[in-house]
Parts: sequence; C-alpha cells; structure tokens
Amino acid sequence: MSKKSTLLIVVLIASLILNVFQGYKLHGCHVGVGESKKNSHLDVQMIKSMEGVVPLVVIGSGPAGLSAAMRGARAGYDTLILQGAPSLLAQTEYVDNWLGSPHELGTSILERSLQQVLSFGARLKEAFVEKIDFDHWPYAIHLDDDTIVRALSMVISTGAHPRMLGIPGEKEYWGRGVSACARCDAPFYQDKEHVVVIGGGDSAIQEALELAPYAKSISIIHRRNQLRASSHSKSLLKTYPSIQIMYNTQPERIVGDESFVNGIEVVDTQTGKRRTIPVDGVFLAIGHIPNTKLFEGSLKLDDQGYIVVQKDAQTSKEGVFAAGDVADPVYRQADVAIGTGAIAGIEAVKFLTEIGFQAGSRK
Ligand code: NDP
Repeated sequence: MSKKSTLLIVVLIASLILNVFQGYKLHGCHVGVGESKKNSHLDVQMIKSMEGVVPLVVIGSGPAGLSAAMRGARAGYDTLILQGAPSLLAQTEYVDNWLGSPHELGTSILERSLQQVLSFGARLKEAFVEKIDFDHWPYAIHLDDDTIVRALSMVISTGAHPRMLGIPGEKEYWGRGVSACARCDAPFYQDKEHVVVIGGGDSAIQEALELAPYAKSISIIHRRNQLRASSHSKSLLKTYPSIQIMYNTQPERIVGDESFVNGIEVVDTQTGKRRTIPVDGVFLAIGHIPNTKLFEGSLKLDDQGYIVVQKDAQTSKEGVFAAGDVADPVYRQADVAIGTGAIAGIEAVKFLTEIGFQAGSRK
C-alpha cells in the first residue's frame, strides 16, 4: 500500500471516529452553542424514556412567559410554566395602555391571560429555579422542591426589578411613600405638595410626567450636572412648570414619621452641603436590574446583565429563548413583552419541530 493511500485511510478512520463522537453528542445529550440543529435529529424514543422531560419549559409567568407558553401549548406541545416571584405587572395597579382594555388591574390582565393559556393545555407549577445545567441537553432545571425538570426547549422570562439606592429609610418606607412606579402609584399623590423623582435618565422624566397631573410640585433629583435622558424626553419637560430639576444632588437618607415619608436628606455633590427637603413621596428611577443571576456564566449577557438575544429571541444556547424585560433594556413594557414572548414561543415550537420532536409525542 502506498504512503498516500495509508494517509487517506487514516484520515477516513479519524473522520469516522469524529462523526460518531459528534453523533453521540447530538443524539445523546449535548446541544452546544451555535451547533447546527439541522444534523441534530434526535432520538425521540430515547428522549421519551427519560424521566421528567418536558418539550417546552417557560421560566416566569409574566406577560412574556404567558405569551410564549400560549404558543407552545396551542401548537400541541406539553408546556410547563414555572412561576416564581410575581411579575412587575402583577404589582401594578390600573393599566390604561393595554390595547383593547382601557382600564384594568395588572393582576386581572394576568389572571385572564393565564386562564387562556391554561385552556390550551399548558401546565403551571409554583416553584423557584435553583440552578440549570446548560451543558447537557435536555437541560436539567433544578427546582426548590428538589425536583428536576428536563427541558428540550426553554423560554426565559424572569423579568427585571428596580434598582435601589441602598440608603437608610428606603426599605423602611417602601410602599409608604417610596415607590419605583409612578405609573402605578401617581394617583395616591393627588394634591400633594412636593414629590421627588431620583435619577437623570428617560425613566426619571417619564416618572415625573406621570406625577405631574397629581402632585403640585415635582423635583427630579440628579447626581450630576447633566441629564442622561434623550433630548426628546428633556423637551417634554418644558411644558410642565411644576417639574424642576435639582442637579448635583445625591440622596443620603429618606426620613419619615414612622408611618409615611416626610423628607429626604441630600448632599450637594459640589459643595458637600447637606440639607433635608420636605417631601410627600420619593420615586426611584435609577434603572432596572434584570433577573439573570441564574444565567451568569451560562448564557451571554450584556454589560448591564440583560440576556443577549437575536431577533428571533434565541440566546447563546440552542433551544433556549428569552423574552420580556429580562432581555429588554429599553422598552420594559408589558405589551412589548407579549410580543417578544410570542416570538420566543413560535421559535421554541420551530426548534422542537426541527429537531424532530413532534407535538404530542409524549401524550
Ligand atoms: P438609565 O440607566 O438611563 O438612567 C439611570 C439614571 O439613574 C442615571 O441618570 C443615573 O445617573 C442615575 N443613577 C443610577 N444609579 C444611581 C444612584 N445610585 N444614585 C443616584 N442616581 C443614580 O435608566 P432609565 O431607567 O432611565 O432608562 C433605561 C433605558 O430605558 C434607557 O435606554 C432609556 O433610554 C430607556 N427608556 C426610554 C423611555 C422612552 O423612550 N420614553 C422611557 C424610559 C426608559 P448618571 O446619569 O449619573 O449615571
């Protein structure tokens, strides 16, 4: 045998071994980042024989999660929604920018939506996720009741929570004069003398504008000498004489009479001078923190911690999609979350179909 043919045979054997190895990974237990799913036709029988396998697991039961779950269940896939902490919409009073529903409680919108999703056959389980093994597929989701759910596909919709200042009085008076949602709480400040909004971004201006029809005077307290907000937002302030801006001012303590807020201690960042401003309410608008601790080191996150997604809601792991505030640093609106949730659900269904897992396969 010539040297050339020996080399050819060695290359062929090596490529065969490599293919078998890759085949094992794709058929058996591993779908890695960006690996092509067109070759990954899975062994449905093998998957069926595994304990606790669910085609679509949705983590989070806010608008994005419910929207995604509806797509999965409606397409005939066994869909499990894991409900942990309540979504921001559940903590919102009346919502008036929900298309088709002019004035409805956030909780009522969610309840109606949940019933609709369940009517398609989705299942709901109250449980907190403790960890997820993204290195092996189906992805093992460990719950706080010591059970494990194995997901073929996943939609993450764990939302975000408001950033806190971390100053004395903030936690103590939370819900008693301290809020992070003017859209929810502004009517409680009808005819109040003075309310402050902390922050210098678009949210701070939005919060101040929400408060304007109610409170007599509103101050935006910002730590620098320049707002971060867009020029469009800033231009809106011109038509509201009741809104002022206190620049170079940093809050140090929120004070009250034990039952409700009545002042805020601030420091002038230029002069170091401290003073207490009488206030009837304090609204925080210093940004949001996405609920992504669980995914650090496993999924690609941006520098603010939001999950990085493609247009099709795909995360950096195949079969794992993200929707709603957890992947949205800009809009953070419930109706936007519904839209991205729908995309994630549609794509999860597409993923399941492409890997050869037929709807109703486990029924
Ligand atoms: P941003 O991150 O844009 O702004 C947060 C603000 O809070 C900044 O001015 C920041 O100060 C200040 N801040 C942060 N931490 C502290 C602290 N510890 N003490 C005092 N001040 C603090 O968040 P937003 O929520 O305003 O906006 C987030 C995103 O959403 C942006 O992309 C924004 O454009 C978008 N958005 C758009 C809206 C619209 O288009 N209508 C409405 C609302 C939000 P500093 O400037 O010094 O960093």
